Amino acid sequence: MKVPFLDLKAQGAAIRGEIEAAIGKVLDETAFAGGPFVKAFEDDFARFCGSTHAIGVGNGTDALWAALIAFGIGQGDEVITVPNTFIATVEAISFCGAKPVFVDVDEKTCTMDPALLQKALTPRTRAVIPVHLFGQTADMDPIMAIAKKNGLVVIEDACQAHGALYRGRPAGSIGDAGCFSFYPGKNLGAYGEAGAVVTSNDEAAAKMRVFREHGQPKKYFHDIVGWNCRMDGLQGAVLSVKLKHLPAWTEARRKNAKQYDQLLAGLPGIVLPHEAGYAQHVYHLYAIRHNRRDELMTALGDKGIATGIHYPVPLHFTGAYQHLGYTEGSFPVSERIARELVSLPMFPELNQEQIEYVVAGIKEFLKTGK
Ligand SMILES: *Cc1c(COP(=O)(O)O)cnc(C)c1O
Repeated sequence: MKVPFLDLKAQGAAIRGEIEAAIGKVLDETAFAGGPFVKAFEDDFARFCGSTHAIGVGNGTDALWAALIAFGIGQGDEVITVPNTFIATVEAISFCGAKPVFVDVDEKTCTMDPALLQKALTPRTRAVIPVHLFGQTADMDPIMAIAKKNGLVVIEDACQAHGALYRGRPAGSIGDAGCFSFYPGKNLGAYGEAGAVVTSNDEAAAKMRVFREHGQPKKYFHDIVGWNCRMDGLQGAVLSVKLKHLPAWTEARRKNAKQYDQLLAGLPGIVLPHEAGYAQHVYHLYAIRHNRRDELMTALGDKGIATGIHYPVPLHFTGAYQHLGYTEGSFPVSERIARELVSLPMFPELNQEQIEYVVAGIKEFLKTGK
């Protein structure tokens, strides 16, 4: 048997008719760059997130960058985030001219440790970007309390957490802004690249709307130096269709995660994902840990089971961020989990038989080393 890591074809086939109809409407109206289909999706997505505004942009990296700029983050500022994230979180900080500062994560949830955030503050700290990794939010209450006390902007990196909840509140609606990616493999994925920022701050929303269109509130009147990072009309139309299915897909992911949890419980040396008491996890990824991770991956690969590592290199070790001057041991939890994490196949259409096959593969590895 082959178990793919992710199966976009299965999902696409199930909604093919709806998608083609939606794309047909965009073609009829030739509303390709921004426009009414993007606006319709923004309205739906803002409601879904419990925020006043959603601003559709080109991808999740644009979303993070535009949000930082809208809240005035730039040269001379420090922005605190974690080293175990996709590099986009940190690129956005660099590209608005600020300096990234890392803090380590909680070992159980792999998200920002609020106690370490407090210790990393300096007079130059202006913002913090907690990353809702794998589909589970960071522990937002203590992060928000520290931010409030110190006048910091909180931008949530919710690129892996569409529909996740923190104490009943949707990811993205807790901080000053929440940034989403609709990269095809994300829980809500476009048919190409797309992203969005949600916020309930009217002024920041207005700034982002102007920023993403060359700084022009009116065509050819450029009030600020902006950029071109609008969402495509085709992506807006596709995402409106897919957003309606997202709650059912999330439920399926949670059900699959529960299956894995039950079947893998108690296996020696396997650390399962931890759903925190505050969280409703949406399992963008189902990442377990084992201290012979690389051998485990090889053994599963030999059985036709695809796996991934998120992420193999903590960002303070990656070439682009050597200049920050961190060393081995700077972030011990992030460094250890980077050696131990392996993401198992996870997508809504994953079936019982596939899950059992993956679990059998893990059990065989534990018994025989192969
Ligand atoms: C996917 C992702 C991004 C970037 O999104 P793109 O749409 O690929 O630009 C940022 N942060 C995290 C945590 C992500 O998973």
